Amino acid sequence: MKKTNKSTKSILFVLMLTLLAPALVIAAGTKEASGVEGTETAMPEGKTKSAKYIFLFIGDGMGLPQLNAAEAYLKAQRSSDAGIEKMNFSDFPAQGLTTTYSSNAFITDSAAAATAIACGYKTASGIISMDESKEKKYPTIAEMAKKAGMKVGILSSVNLDHATPACFYAHEPTRNNYYNINIQLAESSFDYYGGGMVRTSKTPEGEKTAHDVMKERGWQIASTREELNSLVPGKQAYAYNHGFAFNALDYTIDQESDDISLAEFTAKGIELLDNPNGFFMMIEGGKIDWACHANDAVSSIFDTFAFADAVQEAIDFYTDHPDETLIIVTGDHECGGLTLGFAGTKYSSAFDKLAEQKYSFEYFNNYVLASFKKENPNGTFSQIRSTIEEGFGLRDLSDYELSRLQSSFKESMLAKKDRSKNDQTYLIYGGYEPLTVTITHLLNQRAGLAWTSYSHTGIPVPTFALGVGAEQFNGYFDNTDIFKYMKAVMPLSAAVAMSK
Ligand SMILES: [Zn+2]
Repeated sequence: MKKTNKSTKSILFVLMLTLLAPALVIAAGTKEASGVEGTETAMPEGKTKSAKYIFLFIGDGMGLPQLNAAEAYLKAQRSSDAGIEKMNFSDFPAQGLTTTYSSNAFITDSAAAATAIACGYKTASGIISMDESKEKKYPTIAEMAKKAGMKVGILSSVNLDHATPACFYAHEPTRNNYYNINIQLAESSFDYYGGGMVRTSKTPEGEKTAHDVMKERGWQIASTREELNSLVPGKQAYAYNHGFAFNALDYTIDQESDDISLAEFTAKGIELLDNPNGFFMMIEGGKIDWACHANDAVSSIFDTFAFADAVQEAIDFYTDHPDETLIIVTGDHECGGLTLGFAGTKYSSAFDKLAEQKYSFEYFNNYVLASFKKENPNGTFSQIRSTIEEGFGLRDLSDYELSRLQSSFKESMLAKKDRSKNDQTYLIYGGYEPLTVTITHLLNQRAGLAWTSYSHTGIPVPTFALGVGAEQFNGYFDNTDIFKYMKAVMPLSAAVAMSK
């Protein structure tokens, strides 16, 4: 792993990252940069147009609160007035609300949600593009596109064998069959995979890893920016980057200059896939979800900006091909039960306070807290208090905040097996590192943000569309309809392939 000692990183760099990164990341993702205003999307009467180029962006865990929090944060960075600054896709001409339930649960998981979007069928939570009996494989829109001669790309900021991307190329009774999913990726005929590394660590002993299979099959494999840049069209390509945890990309807030962004993977995808028969590309912003499971609003916000930057690549492409391109941006479900409002702050909000957070919960766990525990096995809260102040801006603590931090610190200093496990501790810590989740809760609450869960919730998500056939995405519809609307504008050859 390339990052072994991030804790030695200079304060200056952290400061620069904090001050500059939002401005840089945000610049491309905002409304004024998008160039979509006044876009004509209505189809000429009686004429069915088809979309030769289809971009499907899925913000994992991105409900309206996640989007709105990013927009409120952006506004707070630029002005003391209340309000929002829209993301580029928030201004797309077609807008809808999408229900997300699975066939067996009001609150879906990513597997059932992505099966609905990719295949047009509801299935039970945990299943990858198969029916509830786990016998029938549903053809996916990506497979249909490939069959019809289009090129196909699957991208994600989390591991490419995670549930959402897997539902476009694999069929498995459970999302946890990582090895089988890995191998289905390596044996697929798709043209380009980009993002987080597949988990080769899940390979059973004596078996070939997905990387081995890809090498045998002559794939181009890239794991650095230089290698990514040297990929050429015409040969299957797999480009990955992995951060310090779980082989997914690092949280955007923690990324350094050698980390490849989702937008870079997307730009390369356009270059590799562009051809006279068109392409289908699915791009997942997967770490929005992971940050929200951990109730870390700031990391979710920065990953939403990175997601919008990837969307911008598609918008730029659309500008050159407005009559042949469809861009869809949706979420697969909400995560964390985030809301913009908190009992303790009543009618006040202070989103500017969030800018004080300098790294993700995961970075704090892995580098800051872990080394503190190692160096100070009997450490006290007062020893780590200034680190928390610097990392998260939690100064001038109220009695309530101090007692929450002290008690969670005590829990975090215990070995995992010695920590109390009951309903009460689950509600306040959710199985996460007690001190860290308390820090993000308190900072989020100061800003006027609050969480109700460490899991997904069942509220509908917003969906936006731009380009050919975008008008279908106006209204209140189900996630299975996204498949139907995409299918309706696929080139004729693809529609024929789908009916087989
Ligand atoms: Zn999730």
